[in-house]
Amino acid sequence: MKAEIIAVGTELLLGQIVNTNAQYLSQECAGLGIDVYFQTVVGDNEERVRTALTIARGRADLIICTGGLGPTMDDITRDVLAAHVGKGLVYDEDALRKIESYFQQRGVAMTENNRRQALKVEGAAPLANETGLAVGCALTHEGTHYMLLPGPPRELKPMFAKYATRWLRSVMGDQMPLHSHIMKFAGIGESALEDRLIDLIREQSDPTIAPYAKEGEVMIRLATKAGDKETAETKLFAVRAKIMERVGDHVYAEEDVGLETAVLRLLTSRGETLSLAESCTGGMIADTITGIPGSSAALAGGVVCYTNAVKHKVLGIPMELLEGDNAPGAISEQTAIELARSVRRLTDSHWGVSVTGVAGPAEAEGKPVGLVFIGIAGPNGNVKAYRHQLAGNRETVKVRAAKAALYRLWTNIRLA
Ligand code: ATP
Repeated sequence: MKAEIIAVGTELLLGQIVNTNAQYLSQECAGLGIDVYFQTVVGDNEERVRTALTIARGRADLIICTGGLGPTMDDITRDVLAAHVGKGLVYDEDALRKIESYFQQRGVAMTENNRRQALKVEGAAPLANETGLAVGCALTHEGTHYMLLPGPPRELKPMFAKYATRWLRSVMGDQMPLHSHIMKFAGIGESALEDRLIDLIREQSDPTIAPYAKEGEVMIRLATKAGDKETAETKLFAVRAKIMERVGDHVYAEEDVGLETAVLRLLTSRGETLSLAESCTGGMIADTITGIPGSSAALAGGVVCYTNAVKHKVLGIPMELLEGDNAPGAISEQTAIELARSVRRLTDSHWGVSVTGVAGPAEAEGKPVGLVFIGIAGPNGNVKAYRHQLAGNRETVKVRAAKAALYRLWTNIRLA
């Protein structure tokens, strides 16, 4: 099956927003065994959206449109698609009820144009929007499959993952016997990982091995086509075993979750708690962990100890360690150790983690940008420090430092 993604929105053409929906949808399609041959971006203009649909129909079996499902006049995608397939628009009753009760509950008068968000193409299957109001829809017309999804990624992703995928499976039937297995890695860069697996990647045919890199973590998706799950699993697990043999130490999950989720699960399963002393990451680790529901079971709290005064006053780090001609300084192994030890003791946690380093753009304490020390204090009272020289600008160094700290923590918990 060949697909084309059409992202509708003048904001995209003006460069005001990045087309992350296309990235997400392409990745998801790859995982489903659908080949995306084209990605198109078109403004909120009736004629040009119509042209984009006509061109796409000539070269794709599946056309996924995103954006332009809102209540305002410039939200034209559903009208244009309906005209393109020669159908009308009808209200989806569930979506309409949801919109009405949304306004009722808030005591706000509903304007007529809000009802537009409950419209779908006549005869199309509705795709429920659990995180917003505009209903999506999917239909097959003259052999081409069409899908309409909302623009906001927080609405599009759950709709695609839950409802659109189900619809695709139902229309594709046997055409989509793709099975996949995900492996998530940390503490190893994409190129180092590829280097360790280079022969497997070069010789790959079935299953395919596709690495994807994100900041501080890498994912590999193994995929194979097979008529049944058992055959697929036999093929997938044979390759998985080879990968595990070489880089198994770096595999923190075998599903698409972040490192913070893996850490949190590990801590929760052991009934252990964590506290943080964050200098150069400025609370980023606490932020990623608290992004996960239920994190209070494991995260006790943290201190953003950015200045030496806070390191000293709040966490009791001796000034002699932080300042002075012969002092190791705030960005040092010793300070990382003391910060981790102190925050753990102060909060009565099982684990204390500290991060101190130079995010840049200028060096600090005569130390280079990207130099980061991570301290890990464990339940047995032992404290370890790790030195990292990270590459990148201020933002990247912060993200990489946070990921490195989570990776060090994850490794230490597993060994404890
Ligand atoms: P709304 O109900 O918010 O109007 P919509 O379905 O009409 O939703 P748009 O109006 O096209 O969608 O876009 C709404 C917002 O969704 C944009 O301002 C942008 O933040 C986000 N968005 C739209 N398209 C994309 C895209 N292709 N990639 C990433 N974000 C997008």
